[in-house]
Amino acid sequence: MFPANELSKALYKLNIPLRRFKTGTPSRVNRKSIDFSELDVQEGDKLTVPFSFETKERPKNKVVCHITYSNEKTKQIILDNLHRSPMYSGKIEGKGPRYCPSFEDKIVRFSDKERHQLFIEPCGENTEEMYLQGLSSSLPEDVQLDFIHTIKGLEHAQVMRAAYAIEYDCVDPTALKATLEFHDLEGLYGAGQFNGSSGYEEAAAQGLVAGINAALKIKGEEPLILDRGSSYIGTLIDDLITKGCTDPYRMMTGRSEYRLVLRQDNADIRLTPIGHKIGLISDERYNAFLYKQEQIKKELSRVKSLSIPITDDLQKMLREKGTAELKTGCKMIELLKRPQITYEDLKPFDLTREDLPYEVFEQVEISVKYEGYIKKQEAQIKEMRRLEAKRIPDDIDYSTLKGLRLEAIEKLSAVRPQNLGQAGRISGVNPADVTALNIILESMKNDR
Ligand SMILES: Cc1cc2nc3c(=O)[nH]c(=O)nc-3n(C[C@H](O)[C@H](O)[C@H](O)COP(=O)(O)OP(=O)(O)OC[C@H]3O[C@@H](n4cnc5c(N)ncnc54)[C@H](O)[C@@H]3O)c2cc1C
Repeated sequence: MFPANELSKALYKLNIPLRRFKTGTPSRVNRKSIDFSELDVQEGDKLTVPFSFETKERPKNKVVCHITYSNEKTKQIILDNLHRSPMYSGKIEGKGPRYCPSFEDKIVRFSDKERHQLFIEPCGENTEEMYLQGLSSSLPEDVQLDFIHTIKGLEHAQVMRAAYAIEYDCVDPTALKATLEFHDLEGLYGAGQFNGSSGYEEAAAQGLVAGINAALKIKGEEPLILDRGSSYIGTLIDDLITKGCTDPYRMMTGRSEYRLVLRQDNADIRLTPIGHKIGLISDERYNAFLYKQEQIKKELSRVKSLSIPITDDLQKMLREKGTAELKTGCKMIELLKRPQITYEDLKPFDLTREDLPYEVFEQVEISVKYEGYIKKQEAQIKEMRRLEAKRIPDDIDYSTLKGLRLEAIEKLSAVRPQNLGQAGRISGVNPADVTALNIILESMKNDR
């Protein structure tokens, strides 16, 4: 494979700031050459969650993974051969992904660790290739073979494809707007690894947003901006364009301040109406979504009003679950609020329960159990949206504004936030700068 050097040169000529990152992958070994007899089995989830809300039947996990560990011998082989690693000999200078380092990185960075956990994962149902999760490496093939053979279960492993690492150019994503269009190059959009992220989902999420916005622009319609309260897509894009990245960016739930609200079970509630509005969700799918919302609403109101009388069986179940027995009968919602009690536990005492889809019960149970926390986070999202609604003109010249600190002027000029909320998230811009900027924006509005 050849690098697209001319592409980087062209971007450089356009004054687009570039970064150099790197990433890698572990070797694939032949299933038949692995001795699984003494390895721990790692089962998949019993209740799988389909990728799409349109999938009606949950797929079943048919294959298992195994766990093994590296050891002192593995470590010694790495240390003896570090000079042959392009990453340590200085041949490669790019920054690697912090959260999935190469095996030699782990040996060097966590030198006190005697062993590292490794997962042996099937690459698919119809292949003999097994992925050695955690063993990514850029060392030469002979060294890879040597260290793989020191690992329990892999003593006779046959490598079908060797591990390798690559280096690549990407842009500084602070050059982009939330639509993923370049600030200074109208009509040019960036997405994926090109924007400094690493990962399949990260790339797909940005490709979707950039594509949607390019199409909306051509149609002369309002852009689509997903905010941090709506989705991980919005969080990812906001992080990239506001904070930039010094190593390949990976989306993790911990990066969201609203992760009680950004759950996979409610992704349809958060995003289906948006998708339908811009024409990417069919009426059929949208109607099915509305029907589900109606079922959730009805079920919630039933649970709120249904009285559960005291019976010996109910008291026994409560005792067994380690929660207080009832003194008088109560509404079903009160029992469901208890952390120890699930919907299924209440099934024998819930005489008007209808046969609804699992997803409906799940939404009701989550909204009842976590109501207080969810409300608090929704209030925070509302406040964030209030600040996001305060737009900053594209042509604002921070250097002419009075009342901002020099550092804030520098950072705001570099990132060019599109609203006050985004301005407040820039590193180096503090709450006092945001207040000053708010006053300036208000006075600019009054002057116009
Ligand atoms: C070795 C390796 C292992 C990885 N393992 C994982 C993993 O396990 N899990 C994970 O989530 N992510 C992994 N990643 C990261 C992930 O693959 C990338 O971040 C993601 O695929 C990037 O998608 P993209 O669409 O942005 O770019 P790409 O998938 O690179 O797509 C860019 C496309 O543009 C084409 N192109 C380039 N130049 C031109 C040109 N001048 N004209 C026309 N077309 C051009 C290229 O041929 C390519 O098809 C790995 C990456 C590597 C390199």
